[in-house]
Amino acid sequence: MLTDRTAVVTGASRGIGRAIALHLAREGADAALIYFAAAKQVSPEQLSPEQVAAEKVIAEVTSYGRRAKAYLCDVADFAWARDTCGQIMEDFGRVDILINNAGIVRDSLILKMSEADYDAVLDTNLKGAFNFSRHLSRALLKSPAGRIINISSVSGLTGNPGQANYSASKAGLIGLTKTLAKELASRRVTVNAIAPGLIATDMTANLEKSDQNAAEALKAGIPLKRIGQPEEVAALAAFLASDAAAYITGEVIRVDGGMCI
Ligand code: NAP
Repeated sequence: MLTDRTAVVTGASRGIGRAIALHLAREGADAALIYFAAAKQVSPEQLSPEQVAAEKVIAEVTSYGRRAKAYLCDVADFAWARDTCGQIMEDFGRVDILINNAGIVRDSLILKMSEADYDAVLDTNLKGAFNFSRHLSRALLKSPAGRIINISSVSGLTGNPGQANYSASKAGLIGLTKTLAKELASRRVTVNAIAPGLIATDMTANLEKSDQNAAEALKAGIPLKRIGQPEEVAALAAFLASDAAAYITGEVIRVDGGMCI
């Protein structure tokens, strides 16, 4: 159980982050939910779709009897991340679990990849995890059972054509995981990475919509012959966050239906 623990989950408004926030709440954790209304212009009176999604996650977490609050923050922005982490500490008084989950894709072959697309993916996926780890490490060191869980990808393990930026960011997260595991171990903070394969979220929905044949071929190449569900990643995150996983650190665990065996 995660009773009395506070979790910070980045990219918690939908997909894998939402599933993790809900699973941790079911296990007893309070949740600070980070979301980002990616540069969408909405009038001040109107909630953005991301805000509406984050509000729904708050309602779900509170239905489990836990506390939840959502924070608008671009994880890639060092100062914004620092101020958000400061606000979370003011609001919750502690942070025990950090889930670095926020991520984007901007796929194209290296021949065509723009500098902007390279930078956006590295800044969100890798620097975002650095920013939150940097600003919350002091709080995590004070926790009796501090945990950092970075959501990497099988693309960071094997590489993937069309994803030079994404694969580099996800491989970088594995290096970050192993270094932080060594740096924070003396105070019992564990740091692990999860490498999902193909998981059914908005990030992968386009693939199924735009190219049914490619999606079927991808599924056929997965030994378990199906796409994974966000909850299947969340279950592992909840285990790694629990006391039962106190002796696991610096590890990278695939949740990929055997895709990368
Ligand atoms: P998703 O459905 O597209 O959700 C992405 C989340 O990240 C959203 O909550 C989004 O927030 C947030 N986000 C994006 N940019 C952000 C920023 N700059 N600052 C703060 N939040 C930001 O994606 P997903 O499939 O759940 O993926 C979650 C993580 O798993 C990602 O790191 C992804 O790389 C990784 N992953 C996914 C798969 C897969 O097959 N789905 C496989 C391997 C790894 P808003 O909606 O508020 O903008």
